Amino acid sequence: MQYPEPIAKLIESYMKLPGIGSKTATRLAFYTLDMDNEDVSEFAKSLISTKKDLTTCSICGNITEQDPCEICRDKSRDQSQVLVVEQVKDIMVMERMRDFHGLYHVLNGVLSPIEGKGPEDINISSLLKRLQTNKSITEVIVATNATPEGEATAMYISRLIKPAGIKVTRLAHGLSVGSDIEYADEMTLSKAVEGRTEI
Ligand SMILES: [Zn+2]
Repeated sequence: MQYPEPIAKLIESYMKLPGIGSKTATRLAFYTLDMDNEDVSEFAKSLISTKKDLTTCSICGNITEQDPCEICRDKSRDQSQVLVVEQVKDIMVMERMRDFHGLYHVLNGVLSPIEGKGPEDINISSLLKRLQTNKSITEVIVATNATPEGEATAMYISRLIKPAGIKVTRLAHGLSVGSDIEYADEMTLSKAVEGRTEI
């Protein structure tokens, strides 16, 4: 016996999510069937709205309802520092820490020869352009993860930017090798920003 089409389709959709196999997808689909109508509507609305109402900030690459994003629009933030992160999620982590008041730039990945990801596959050229046009930026803090790819990306960015006379620093103490920004606690991150070193 096959599942009725609506549930079969829902299972298929759940299976498109990362780390979800057919067993979990089936469990989630049946769980959805048991949910209140209101909760399911809310869920469906957020799914659609996430795609429809969000855009990418044309300056920093953050996700936003309005372009430029809230952070880029906020003139009270320190316009001289740009903290470079791998993913949008990392901005939220940094903002939770509340110690950094500068601007951000989202690379949307890291250089990875194994995955065939080169400089043109991540947002490096937009960073360079931004530095060329916005002369108030004097420091770029590279906050890529402490993985080999993250380190290589940081060094690559440093080599590109330094000749322009911009200070390039890297998050320091506290972040253990191989760790992701995403999993660091606020205290550790705060220390890492404070103890950043020039590269
Ligand atoms: Zn922005």
